[in-house]
Amino acid sequence: MEGLVAGIDVGGTRIKAGLVFWDGTVVARGQWPTEARRGPEWVMRRLGREVRALAVQAGVEWRDVVGVGAAWPAFLDLESGWMEEAVNLHWKNVPIRDLMERELGKPVVLDNDGNAAALGETWIGAGKGAASVLCVTVGTGIGGGIVWEGRVYRGALAMAGEIGHLPMKPDGEPCTCGSRGCLETLASATALVRESRRRGLIGPSGSLTVEDIFVLVRQGDERASEVIREATFWLGRGLAAAADLLSPDVIVVGGGVAKAGDLWFVPLDEAFRSWVLPRVARYCRLSPAFLGEDAGILGAAKLAWQSFTEAREAPS
Ligand SMILES: [Zn+2]
Repeated sequence: MEGLVAGIDVGGTRIKAGLVFWDGTVVARGQWPTEARRGPEWVMRRLGREVRALAVQAGVEWRDVVGVGAAWPAFLDLESGWMEEAVNLHWKNVPIRDLMERELGKPVVLDNDGNAAALGETWIGAGKGAASVLCVTVGTGIGGGIVWEGRVYRGALAMAGEIGHLPMKPDGEPCTCGSRGCLETLASATALVRESRRRGLIGPSGSLTVEDIFVLVRQGDERASEVIREATFWLGRGLAAAADLLSPDVIVVGGGVAKAGDLWFVPLDEAFRSWVLPRVARYCRLSPAFLGEDAGILGAAKLAWQSFTEAREAPS
C-alpha cells in the first residue's frame, strides 16, 4: 500500500502526532502543548504547522499523506464532524473536522480517545489478532472502547464503551457526568488520590500522586494497600460486568494507573476473576496495554487507513 496517514492524539495538556505506514510503522513523530485556552482556531493553526512539519522530518512530501485520523477527548458527532463538548479543553460546539480539514488540506476522520486507543491496541498492541477487544484506560478518569472484528463498535450515539460511567455505588461520590458512584469515582487516579488523602496519607513533597501511593504500598503502608485493594475490587467488578455482557477475547488495561504494574494488576485480575462468569473467564484474557503513549496516535492512524484507503478501494 502506497502512502502514509497522520495519526493525531489530542490530550488536555499535550497533542501528539505521527506519520504512520500501513503496517503501523511510525516514520515521524512530534508533540507540543495543547494550549486549549487559546481557542480552537489558534490550536488548529499550530496543529496544521506541526503536523505538516512531520513530513519534512520524515523526508516525504505532504501530498503523499492520504488522510488524517484524530482522537479527541470529547463527545463528538461523527457524522457532522462537530465536537459537542470537550470537558478537559473547556470547548463546546466546535466544527472540529472542518477546521482540521481546512488547516491540513486532507480528509480527516475523528473519534474519541477511548475508541482510538482500543483500535490501536487491537491493531498492533495487546489485543493483536483478537476478534473482540475491550480496552480500558485508567487515568484521571476511566475511558474505554470496544473493537469488534477489527472495527470500533460505536452503538447508537457513538457512546459505546463508556465503561467509566458504569453505575456501581448508589450512594457514591459525585461524577463529572452528573451521576454518582460511577466506576471512575471508585477506581480512577483521581479516586486513588482522594481516598488516600481521606486516610491521611501524604507524599514526600507534601502533595500526593498515584506514584507516591504505590511507593507507600511498596513500603508496606497498610492504608495505601487498602486504597489499592478497594479500587481494584471495584474495577475488577466493573470489568466482570462488561465481560459478562460482551464476552471479549481480551480486555486490555492501560493508562497512568496501570503503570504501577503487578502491585495493581494482580489484585485487579483476582477481583475480576472472582466476579466474572467462569465460562467467560476461561476465554477472556486480561492484559496490560502494550502501546503506552502511542496507542492514541496508532489508533487514529488505523482509523484513517480504514476510512480513506478502504473507501477508495471499495467497489462503487
Ligand atoms: Zn459518571
